[in-house]
Amino acid sequence: MITNPRIEAYLATLVPQRSELLSRLEEEAAKEGIPIIQLASAQVMRMLVKLHKPKAILEIGTAIGYSTIWLAEAAPEARIVTMELDAERISRARNNFAEAGVAERIELIEGDAGRGLAKHYQFDCLFIDAAKGQYRAFLDLYLPHVRDGGLIISDNVLFRGLVTDPEAASKRQRPLVDKIDRYNRYLLEHPELETSFIPVGDGLAVSHKRSLGRS
Ligand code: SAH
Ligand code: MG
Repeated sequence: MITNPRIEAYLATLVPQRSELLSRLEEEAAKEGIPIIQLASAQVMRMLVKLHKPKAILEIGTAIGYSTIWLAEAAPEARIVTMELDAERISRARNNFAEAGVAERIELIEGDAGRGLAKHYQFDCLFIDAAKGQYRAFLDLYLPHVRDGGLIISDNVLFRGLVTDPEAASKRQRPLVDKIDRYNRYLLEHPELETSFIPVGDGLAVSHKRSLGRS
């Protein structure tokens, strides 16, 4: 929670009813400590995707497929490529995609997202939500796969509020908090991106890709 917890709890009550499957995944994730996107952030992402109408989406960090299913529902025509390295989560995500009836539109790539993708993959939306310390590497690797005009969403960019309060971070967290801060500034200064930071959930950065030489 990075905003007032009461505001966050209130916003969560204003999110439209989800499917039984999504609600169940929220419970599983809470019980097992799987870091899925927060409800109010998921709703913002859904709205952005509905407005943007991407035909192809790349997600970095599938976990059990919770956010992937939100994306698939928000963009019913889209093909989604999603990447995950944890074998147990991969098999659960596959089952969840089948249960949601979206499996045929989703390509789940197993392994380290740091390895990149073949050149022919092109997307109009990129969602970055895997290892927080590697966001810049993921962006550098996958931005060339995003078409001009594309939408890039990065989750957890305020990291429990610690980005604005690094003194409160533990010794172990501090390098990560500093990295996320540098990533946010990198987004801001990136010549191909215009970025806006939204203090919802754990913090969303919303970026628009423009072609170089145009604004
Ligand atoms: N997007 C999901 C949550 C993802 S949690 C949701 O909101 O529902 C982050 C996931 O990224 C974890 O499951 C972790 O195993 C995975 N991950 C971390 N580093 C990775 C990497 N280098 N390549 C692929 N997946 C990675
Ligand atoms: Mg996240």
